[in-house]
Amino acid sequence: MDKNNNKKLNVYISEEEKTLNWEDIQNSFKKMFGNEIYTSWLQKISLIKEYNDYLILGVPTRFFRDWIVSRYLDKILEQVKSFKLSLNRIEFKIIEENRNTQELTKIEELSKITEIKDSILNYNRLNPNLSFDNFILGKSNEVALSYSKRVCEHLSRYNPLYICGGVGLGKTHLLNAIGLNLQSENNVMFISAERFMYHFIKSIKKNDMVNFKDFFRKSSVFIIDDIQFIRGKESLQEEFFHTFNSLMDKGSQIIISADRTPMKLDRVQERIKSRLAGGLVVDIEVPDLELKTKIIKKKILEIQNQFKENINLSDNVIEYIANESKTNIRELIGILNRVIAFSRVHNKILTTADCKNILKDVFSQIRVITVDKIQNIVSNYFNIPLNDMLSQRRSRPLARPRQIAMYLAKKMTTRSLPEIGRRFANRDHTTVIHAVKTITRLIEQDDEMKKNIGQLKNLLLENQN
Ligand code: ADP
Ligand code: MG
Repeated sequence: MDKNNNKKLNVYISEEEKTLNWEDIQNSFKKMFGNEIYTSWLQKISLIKEYNDYLILGVPTRFFRDWIVSRYLDKILEQVKSFKLSLNRIEFKIIEENRNTQELTKIEELSKITEIKDSILNYNRLNPNLSFDNFILGKSNEVALSYSKRVCEHLSRYNPLYICGGVGLGKTHLLNAIGLNLQSENNVMFISAERFMYHFIKSIKKNDMVNFKDFFRKSSVFIIDDIQFIRGKESLQEEFFHTFNSLMDKGSQIIISADRTPMKLDRVQERIKSRLAGGLVVDIEVPDLELKTKIIKKKILEIQNQFKENINLSDNVIEYIANESKTNIRELIGILNRVIAFSRVHNKILTTADCKNILKDVFSQIRVITVDKIQNIVSNYFNIPLNDMLSQRRSRPLARPRQIAMYLAKKMTTRSLPEIGRRFANRDHTTVIHAVKTITRLIEQDDEMKKNIGQLKNLLLENQN
């Protein structure tokens, strides 16, 4: 690892927060991935910041990040989890090589401001790479794009603007683009619903609701991503509703994304649904071949410019990639990265037959459902912290979801019972057997349980990347 770089980065890891030894983790990567993959990829990743439930890792380029995410993310997460069980997410940050001192001071200053601001700012930052300029127009996103732009020109005319569409179709990209467009003249707040919930719960525990409310209600443009995650917990919905109403009352623009229309949100109060539907609802559909082809060509250009190299993919190959990836632009980009990396390493012009070979296992890989994913989705669904779900506590509100997660892990992954037990804070395999039996019985006896399991399975099948 680049020692200098690492040293600089350490400036903003607060010492008392650190529990992970990155060197140990790196060594385990080496064992897990082998020397070759390790030195070309894993070794270049640095630890920037450690939170209780997620890590921010530093990578040198965007391409590097996409590559790691599309190929190794699951394994990396699995591995770091074995060092710290409460982790459930990894975020990447691209570190420019010549980070100047001014930026460092900025970051140091950031860490001095109050905790809620500090932690929110960490992901409230807009991604400068997701703008209107590089969002490609197609039939499937025409309406959503056009209203996203109009919102920027006429604040509070369409309020709230609600963008819905399936996974990987460009919702976050559009939200981010709106934020970028408006941030110089407005107080823009951009947060995922999941994070909003996390802060809400944390503020309750710390008795700090006043700050929480003030913080969110200050924004004049409030952008909230993946609102389907706000569900359940009455008190949270109440707070969300109040925040929402007071923002609307003072004329702030609200922009929301979700994977479904407002009326289809489950376990959300009716009055919230109708308020959400009360502005303008636009959707993004599945991309057609034309849009997919355009996106591939644009990405190739971007990579060429960034790396100053010539990428030679024939029209046949481009068409092949566009056809292979059926519904999801994120997946499409992942596949493209993989093909480009291959052609770069082997320095040859690829045929469609080569592509077929390269991608042979990509699709099966992308569709893998992992124990991690199950644990995350179940804890989210029941609105309980992952830590609590995995803990030794036996109260029913924790024990049931835990058993459900074990049941799903047995049914939907190829992991053995002892392996599943280990992933649930080192429980014995007999505990897993008991969980599977209990849930199987409850599904037969209890309609509510049957419904829950059905919905969870759908979520797992939907969220495949
Ligand atoms: P969602 O939030 O709907 O799951 P994202 O906004 O994260 O999807 O999009 C997934 C990836 O696809 C991102 O890298 C995004 O930049 C890219 N993408 C999606 N739609 C477009 C588009 N029309 N033009 C360019 N890139 C796009
Ligand atoms: Mg998104």
